[in-house]
Amino acid sequence: MGTEEYTPAMRQYLDIKERHKDCIVLFRMGDFYEIFFDDAHLAARELSITLTTRNKNKQDSIALCGFPYHAASGYIARLVNRGYKVAVCEQMEDPKLAKGVVKREVVRIITPGLITSADGIITVENVFIGALYPSLDGGQGGGSFLDLSTGEFYLLRWSHKEDRESLGGIELRELIVPERIRDSALLKVLLADRESCQVNYCPEDLFASEEALALLSGYLTNEEMIDLNLPGNPLSAAAAGALLRYVENTQKTSLAHLRKLKWHDASDYLVIDDTARRNLELFSTAIDNRTEGSLFHLLDETATSMGKRKLRWWLANPLKNPSRIRRRLTAVAEMKKNHLARGKLGRLLKEVHDLERLGGRIVMNLATARDLAAFRDSLKPLGEIKELVSGFNSPLIRAAGNSLDVLADLTLVLDQALVDSPPSSLREGGIIRKGYDAALDELTDLVKNGRKWIASLEEKERLRTGINSLKVGFNNIFGYYLEIGKAHTGQAPDDYIRKQTLVNAERYTNQELKEYEYTVLNAKERAREREYELFAGIRNILGGQIERIQKTASSLAIFDVVAALAQVAEKYNYTEPQVTGDGLLLITEGRHPVVEQYSQAQEFVPNDTFMDLEGNRFLVITGPNMSGKSTYIRQVALISIMAQMGSFVPAKEAVIGAADRIFTRIGAADSLARGQSTFMVEMIEVANIIKNATDRSLIILDEVGRGTSTFDGMAIAWAVAEHLNDKAKIGARTLFATHYHQLTELALTNEGVKNYNIAVGESPETIIFLRKIVPGGTNRSYGIHVGRLAGLPESVVVRAREILMNLEKGEFDASGMPRLAQHGQAIPQGQLGLFGGEEGLVADEIRESDPINMTPLEALNKINIWKKRLST
Ligand code: ADP
Repeated sequence: MGTEEYTPAMRQYLDIKERHKDCIVLFRMGDFYEIFFDDAHLAARELSITLTTRNKNKQDSIALCGFPYHAASGYIARLVNRGYKVAVCEQMEDPKLAKGVVKREVVRIITPGLITSADGIITVENVFIGALYPSLDGGQGGGSFLDLSTGEFYLLRWSHKEDRESLGGIELRELIVPERIRDSALLKVLLADRESCQVNYCPEDLFASEEALALLSGYLTNEEMIDLNLPGNPLSAAAAGALLRYVENTQKTSLAHLRKLKWHDASDYLVIDDTARRNLELFSTAIDNRTEGSLFHLLDETATSMGKRKLRWWLANPLKNPSRIRRRLTAVAEMKKNHLARGKLGRLLKEVHDLERLGGRIVMNLATARDLAAFRDSLKPLGEIKELVSGFNSPLIRAAGNSLDVLADLTLVLDQALVDSPPSSLREGGIIRKGYDAALDELTDLVKNGRKWIASLEEKERLRTGINSLKVGFNNIFGYYLEIGKAHTGQAPDDYIRKQTLVNAERYTNQELKEYEYTVLNAKERAREREYELFAGIRNILGGQIERIQKTASSLAIFDVVAALAQVAEKYNYTEPQVTGDGLLLITEGRHPVVEQYSQAQEFVPNDTFMDLEGNRFLVITGPNMSGKSTYIRQVALISIMAQMGSFVPAKEAVIGAADRIFTRIGAADSLARGQSTFMVEMIEVANIIKNATDRSLIILDEVGRGTSTFDGMAIAWAVAEHLNDKAKIGARTLFATHYHQLTELALTNEGVKNYNIAVGESPETIIFLRKIVPGGTNRSYGIHVGRLAGLPESVVVRAREILMNLEKGEFDASGMPRLAQHGQAIPQGQLGLFGGEEGLVADEIRESDPINMTPLEALNKINIWKKRLST
């Protein structure tokens, strides 16, 4: 049917919906938001609310659902979190005063990447939205990203090599890209690990760079434009411009808090790509995606939301430059020493609300009176905090202390203007303190006196009329009235004017009451308006100081993070690492920060690490399953990351040559769920490492080649290892854990490769995991041993060992031993004995042992175990 057949309000709706096709339109009608047609079906399903039909049995029936406006934030949050965009359409005039259909407009569009904490989104993390704009040939690109709730705003640029990394540490909720890159490899790579990121494909002209520059110049001073060299980076400027335009179009309000545009230069940071972040469980566990059990959870002793976000940022984007890292470490060290100050700082910080987000809401006119009260309360401890940190000497704390503005002028305004605990509604009054505004006080007095007069009227009129049951009352529709029961209506004085008839009573008014009523109601309305005006005025005053607020918030975040890291260092007995610019990695008694806290089975066994760019570049770590290989290689990566973010580390001593990138290839269980074959995922990741690693990278490889047949797998593992280790090609520091013990032979032919294994003790009954990393390879995988312990019949065990030895010879003997086992050929009789050649194996172990590097206790243990094995 044509739109002309709808009611005027529905035509208005359809017109608005036509302009916001990609959104669910919330159409304000009185106290409700209504949703119509297809949107209604969708919202009813997503929100589990009732779907109804208007004009049910007619042809033009309309599906409809809705919710009350005061509950909107929760519903909106649910829709947006599921990836929908929501357009909020409000009534722009008082329906009582409207001529014809009430004027309505979309006042704001909320999208997954554009939410503020006013929208009922509770997570503390940054909510980033980004825009990318690659050159036509894809060789270079520019980008930009921002957090609308806090006002952080960044520029990016990349040339081909770093495209995957440029957004490495940034958790994007939404992305804007030109339509032409819809199917590009770049986008595929970027989105591979960002399934929840919503992508908007936009027309090319959104990215027009001249318009972008014009738009940006509204946010930046000329000086800032020149400092950022925007004209020299047209791709980045285009992306930032497109992003701003998108945000302006959806928010339709001031965005003054986005003024501080900065470059985010990936080359300043240790790049931890998404795969590594997931594998190393920096922010959530790999298997069940929980926060608990992640490194972040362990480190997060922050007291404020600002601190929490900054800590996340530090962990997602550790630094590369040793002197910048040392600046952080020195601050943490000083804070760690200073117990008293740290305790006090923690207590003061707990009183501070999220100033960054409050600031954002203030600027965008979304802040309520309660927000302003929270803001005011957050300013109270600032003086004491400033005083406290002035006692510190480390440059980072000093600098942050200097830029902490206690905002005394704002405290003054808020103290004078705002009542102690304002109501949640902005339209009901009760926000502004008495004495702040003479006009408001006058109106309030009028209301009060009028009410007093009306209250005294009952007594007066009872006396005058002699009707003791006469009552004065009020209701929203008829206003004030004098009520007389039916029995006495005959006694009503002449000046009473009938207003309303009830079953048992009549309601009246009179001239005097009318006048007072008018004064009271009118004054009340005007007082409300005046309060709202005053409130908006205060919000504007605060909004005008957003830069100072943001600076202060940033200083507070730094104190908070430094104090948290100091706290963690003390709690878990961490040590200050020495971070250098060379490729040395020296860790004495290092521990895995998370495993050491969560493993209850046994005391964590610390291990040493020594790597450099020369003879100790590539460590092959062998050992049976469950011996601790993964834990060990992750521990080295985590200690490096912690050091580079400015944290103390779980070790007795650590010298960390800063890395430029950390790569991992660990397990692939989670990708299986996404339908890619394990081996394919593994190879994609390995290919990425080979493409992007440099001699300053740190690479963690766990069981490369496991997902395919033994020979394929081993061949690939071997070739990858050679390539990574080759100085002419990459020469990166690499920890390579493998159960292919044959790979220990890499050390024979490749300079820089060193073998280590995780020591295992054996007794006839069981294998003992000693968890100690020791130099040298192992030539045993213990699989058959474990099979025997599990109760495989002796004949099977003996046959398995026979086949194993034969296989091993088959693979590596250049003389061409047959690959398939031939009965009895490989193993000289007599050596099998009761334990399938135990003597021979013990002899092998003795031959390979490294007494120089054993502690006397380890040696004793070993001898004891050998003795037991031989005497059984
Ligand atoms: P692998 O990679 O060799 O199969 P893992 O690294 O997964 O072995 O470790 C197996 C188990 O041993 C883990 O559950 C871990 O808790 C424990 N573990 C590993 N290293 C240590 C250690 N140094 N001290 C104590 N327990 C450890």
